[in-house]
Amino acid sequence: MKTQNRNIYMHCLGCPRNEVDCDTLASALIRAGWHICDDPEDAGTIVVNTCSFLVSAVEESIEAILELGAPGVKEDRSLVVAGCLVSRYGKQALSSLLPEVDLFLDFPDYPHLSALMEKDPETRTHCAASAPTRELASTLSRGYVYLKISEGCDRRCSFCAIPSIRGPLRSRPWEEIKTEAGYFIERGAHELILIAQDTTSYGLDIYGRPSLPKLVYELGEKDGDWTLRILYMHPGGIDTEILSAMGHPRVNNYFDLPFQHVDENVLQEMGRRGNADSQRRLISSIREGFDEAALRATFIVGFPGEDRAAFRSLEDFILEMRFDWLGLFSYSQEERTPAFSLGKGVGAKAAKERVEELSALQEEIMRDKARDMVGKRLRVLVEGRSLEAPGFWEARSWREAPEIDGVIFIAHSVGIEPGTVREVSITASEGIDLIGNIQSR
Ligand code: SF4
Repeated sequence: MKTQNRNIYMHCLGCPRNEVDCDTLASALIRAGWHICDDPEDAGTIVVNTCSFLVSAVEESIEAILELGAPGVKEDRSLVVAGCLVSRYGKQALSSLLPEVDLFLDFPDYPHLSALMEKDPETRTHCAASAPTRELASTLSRGYVYLKISEGCDRRCSFCAIPSIRGPLRSRPWEEIKTEAGYFIERGAHELILIAQDTTSYGLDIYGRPSLPKLVYELGEKDGDWTLRILYMHPGGIDTEILSAMGHPRVNNYFDLPFQHVDENVLQEMGRRGNADSQRRLISSIREGFDEAALRATFIVGFPGEDRAAFRSLEDFILEMRFDWLGLFSYSQEERTPAFSLGKGVGAKAAKERVEELSALQEEIMRDKARDMVGKRLRVLVEGRSLEAPGFWEARSWREAPEIDGVIFIAHSVGIEPGTVREVSITASEGIDLIGNIQSR
């Protein structure tokens, strides 16, 4: 290591699960006497936490490494690369490709990060392995915190590289998650968001049965003004126990449903069960069971075997179900996945056109739903000043997850602060977003 400037700049890529890893690494480094800085210029070490579950994510990670490793940027700083790219491709292969990198960190190395970064061998020998606890959350100032409840996945969806990157399912004991929840509630978190590769599988490995409901009821005992949001719910894992737990007063009636497709043959090739009818039944049991429910669905478009008829059935399903929010992804043929041998599917160009076609349909649905919200009063979490709309603040209600759904723009008003909960009356809609006014307390 070339310098012992103990300032570290963390560059985080990828999903909220990776964001939690960044927080955990940063917490361990701070405990070991390092300082996290916001500007690479001030840093002695730059850590790039990478993502690699799709080819496009791999490209983005390598781009960031080359940019932060460039002579004029890196200079005498150390460059550390961590995360999914290292796990997927291995240190040896990457070190020959990326000579500007001083240290590659795979997941098993994380507890030893501080020791690995210490220049002085004497100090290094005294570095203890750090526990994966987290004292900071990069989103806390916005009033919400992601809680990663498990790592890895035991499912084998044929298009997915995550099990080969993150390994088998490893759930955290609910007591540990409850302690972490309490820690962040005490420090001002008003929304806790449960994340994993598949939250419905939580506990299968350590408790021998799906235990997401147990976790919800345990967390629900915590006092304070906060709500719970649950993301990444594999539709095949949603049973009556989970639906009852979603009825807990703390839980936002927000259902994140990565269906991936509706055509039975395509789903079969994806290594998933079900079809449009089974998904329809799940959706109606949610809509019948909850007065108000926000549904986010995710679909992969252009998968091998998605002929015109299969695509039409997906289009019809989206029109019929009128989801509140929708994630649409072009199929990406990924090495070392079971689906790789099936080929590229419909191809990038056709997949892109299909995604655009479905996005246009969904845009109209979301605009309609935004119009229906005008006149309503909502409890919202004020996240902060809007970069997109100067003079406004951005907030979210139970209907919107952070970073992926629409937002509620609030005109500036006296006493408004980031990370606080307020009552808002919706006065207008702007596309898929809402506009509202703060109601006096
Ligand atoms: S459940 Fe999610 S993480 Fe697991 S294999 Fe399927 S797509 Fe990948």
